[in-house]
Amino acid sequence: MRHRACLLALLVQGMIFSTSQTATAWEHHPLLTEPVISTMPEINSAAPAAATSLETFLIAEEADLVTLLAEVETWARSALPSYKPRPDSLAFQVTGTATDIRERFFRAIRVNPNIKTPLYLGPLANNSKQAKGLLAPGDVSILGDTSNLSVFQFDELAAGESASASDIVGTASNEPDYGLDIGLFEDNNTDFGQVYGFGVQPFGNPGLDYGSQAPFHMGFYHESPIVFLFASFLKESYPEYRIHLFKSLSEFAFEHGHNYWGWRFMGWGLHYLCDLSMPYHTTALPGVGTLRMLIINLLDMIGWSTPKDNAVQLSSNRHVALETFEGIVMVDASRIHDTEEPTLAALLEARTIPPYSDTVPRANIAKASHSLSSKMDKALTKYMPARFVTDPSVELGDLSERYQIVQMIEAEHGIAAVTKIEQLQAEALTSFAIYGRSYATAILHPAK
Ligand SMILES: [Zn+2]
Repeated sequence: MRHRACLLALLVQGMIFSTSQTATAWEHHPLLTEPVISTMPEINSAAPAAATSLETFLIAEEADLVTLLAEVETWARSALPSYKPRPDSLAFQVTGTATDIRERFFRAIRVNPNIKTPLYLGPLANNSKQAKGLLAPGDVSILGDTSNLSVFQFDELAAGESASASDIVGTASNEPDYGLDIGLFEDNNTDFGQVYGFGVQPFGNPGLDYGSQAPFHMGFYHESPIVFLFASFLKESYPEYRIHLFKSLSEFAFEHGHNYWGWRFMGWGLHYLCDLSMPYHTTALPGVGTLRMLIINLLDMIGWSTPKDNAVQLSSNRHVALETFEGIVMVDASRIHDTEEPTLAALLEARTIPPYSDTVPRANIAKASHSLSSKMDKALTKYMPARFVTDPSVELGDLSERYQIVQMIEAEHGIAAVTKIEQLQAEALTSFAIYGRSYATAILHPAK
């Protein structure tokens, strides 16, 4: 299946191949999600919810879940043209067996069955609240490299212990990056990938931990028709499926009185909405126009691959540079609650909240970030350290100096340049600030 791709396809694929090695979309989702939901009185003033294990929720609602998951599947098959149907043999069924219900559920929703779902909250590390028990990053995530989780601490919750809705949602909003979507394709060397029915991985690196989640966290819906003509595999992506699935599960959990899981599934869904606001997640080659893409592909076809390799590496580095910048800025702003910081201000801003529909992720959020991608790419090229964003011999993911990126921009171009990038980042995240609230509101007031 992979060789159906022509060289242009391989170019685009190569681009995503390299970005997905280090890039994870926006860093630290709780720092983006919490400000947005903090503006919602229904979440802010909601009664604390008692933590319950996933198994407790599943076994209590096993029969009704059969219907719900069947409805989600019917929806996905009719609403998403590139959706690969869930094999009927994986359909969730009532067996009454508690010991394997967790695995049966994970296989029915086709996530990595090894994910961990401990009861915990994940505030920024070193914040005042003293936790009774701390979990290690390896207790919440199945990824090999959990170094970027060191900014958080994981406070264990006992079963039955209450937590605020906003803490549950915020904590959960990071969880889809803890391995949920890893290894789901046929060529990912996992037993479940063989039976899930997603086929071979359409883009991203199938051999890498993080690479294999790319088609679930990225969506290229607005490329030019000629790109789709040559690289139709770019249409195979699943954020909309995850967003609808977790919205449905969240509504279901609330309806059945399992508020803790209602909030947690809401956080899972918000993760994917937020990912689509990242310009490098909705555009295959930001900053490279269609014509240029065709030319460098042509050159590649006649044997000169340097322009292609350079374009791939530079886009990858800018992707990493933006995420590194965003992570640093958001940790700093969150720690001191700097509401003047442009991104935090944009997330907190009072807004008119339009109604949510299933077309929002593609037609509104991904559309907005795709439209911003060229402007963002230009700004990064202009203001970020040249070595990081214009030197194709550099693999930015390997440079620990990248964590000085904010100081470096300020030293070279002044604080105004830092602000300029913060403003563009704020512009990108505005769609999440708006539609994240639409999504949460729709869950709390389902139209039935
Ligand atoms: Zn993600």
